[in-house]
Amino acid sequence: MGRVIGIDLGTTYSCVATLEGGKPVVIPNLEGLPTTPSVISFTAAGERLVGTLAMRQAVTNPANTFYAVKRLIGQKFQSAQIQEAMTRLPYGLTEAANGDVAVVQGDRTLSPPEISAMVLGYLKECAESFFGETVSQAVITVPAHFDDAQRQATKDAATICGLDVQRVINEPTAAGLAFGLDARKNGLAAIYDLGGGTFDITILEASDGVFNVLATNGDSYLGGEDFDNRILEWLVASFRAETGIDLGADKLALQRLKEAAEKAKRELSFTTETEINLPFIISEKAKTNHIRKSLSRKTFEAMTSDLVERTLPRIEQALADAKVGAERIDQVILVGGQTRMPLVKERVTKFFGRAPEEKVDPDQIVAMGAAIQSGILDGQVRDLVLLLDVTPFALGIETEGDGYERIIERNTTVPTRKVKAFTTVEHNQRRVRIHVLQGEGFLASMNKSLAVFELVGIEPAPAGVPQIDVTFEINADGLVRVSAKDKETGLSQKVEVRPSSGLSPAEVEEMRQRQTGRELAKTGVDG
Ligand code: AMP
Repeated sequence: MGRVIGIDLGTTYSCVATLEGGKPVVIPNLEGLPTTPSVISFTAAGERLVGTLAMRQAVTNPANTFYAVKRLIGQKFQSAQIQEAMTRLPYGLTEAANGDVAVVQGDRTLSPPEISAMVLGYLKECAESFFGETVSQAVITVPAHFDDAQRQATKDAATICGLDVQRVINEPTAAGLAFGLDARKNGLAAIYDLGGGTFDITILEASDGVFNVLATNGDSYLGGEDFDNRILEWLVASFRAETGIDLGADKLALQRLKEAAEKAKRELSFTTETEINLPFIISEKAKTNHIRKSLSRKTFEAMTSDLVERTLPRIEQALADAKVGAERIDQVILVGGQTRMPLVKERVTKFFGRAPEEKVDPDQIVAMGAAIQSGILDGQVRDLVLLLDVTPFALGIETEGDGYERIIERNTTVPTRKVKAFTTVEHNQRRVRIHVLQGEGFLASMNKSLAVFELVGIEPAPAGVPQIDVTFEINADGLVRVSAKDKETGLSQKVEVRPSSGLSPAEVEEMRQRQTGRELAKTGVDG
């Protein structure tokens, strides 16, 4: 077995780690930095830039600079989230043939996994330069709250860049693993993970090397970007009030505002007041306009406290599902850059009645956990016996009249499988349709459609006679598989699968060839 790397593919930043002498270490990128912006940009000359270089292009080349693509992965173009994101993103989005969202780059479209694969490909290259040898295997992390489509799309991204995914693990679980292994503590931990685009809360029990996730909850559409957007909206509104000019229509101005907003937000984690200075933000009627505004931490907190509050019911639900009270939590671990915001720390401290652990680097701990998981898989980490994670959503099927029958409940330990018997309702019926959904809604239409499975080629028989056992399975990666068997004969029942979203294996392979082969990639450092 070659080397296996651990990758945290973040919304805003990504990180890669490995195990050295049984300990996780972060691999620096080609610029010597521990984390890399998850940004891809294409220059007018058709050159592809990754990371910091790409980020620097954001202002001058906004339509061809792709950031926060993780928020698009595994999503439908028509979903409310994507429609809302479109109003703000300086790059174009469109609808792929299967209804998935795709990114517009010049006269071509790219799928979100394809863009993510370019970030992953760069991290792979960093690891190869670090080891001086080829790397082809990885453990990759995803938000605990990612559904099947988002997980599969992330895995596809790794495949496209030439990485064989050994395991997909949940980000907070990875953080818990890295923290637990380091501190060697038994007890209950709450991992509060507020990253660039997603929020997860995980309740984990550590006991002599067994890491057992009791429950997880979260919001895959709440993160640091929403905090930036509040500042951005405030800047746009006050500029409109002062000048009558709407900056919202100007892509370049919007990009500058976005960067300034994020910078101001970061500064307010360490100072109580900051200044936002954007000279020459727009010229109108031969008059140049500038932005110069000061923002206090207090005002910023008032603008965003509802976002922080939105995380609390999720924690309550996770604790209720884990059947433990907040007072039973022994350690609170903060993960994700947005947890550096003092208000987040305060609210979490108040909620649990205890301060979060210090000495955890929220930007690196997830990748380190992924590296530990790689060590568990290849036997380098021996004192860790078992990692048991859970599925974040119920899995079920559509029944008559938009009904939803749950087959596997949320927070069930994975891998898991449930068998359900199906039969026909008409004489000589040759096919049975099973629509598989994931989610917590009580109606079928309130949940995410995963795929339609059709049991085909059923032998002609009176209604109700054929007995087909259908196995619904969620593997250790959190991915759903469905298979069927004829109860009578024990033979596999043929199943036709129509996935509701995602790339086909042929598309993934085509993209892999394109990316690992032909496209000229300029990555990393200047020059
Ligand atoms: P992650 O996905 O963990 O890389 O989190 C990145 C998010 O953390 C981004 O939205 C950053 O703007 C945010 N972030 C990073 N540093 C800080 C800071 N000092 N204060 C507030 N937010 C931060």
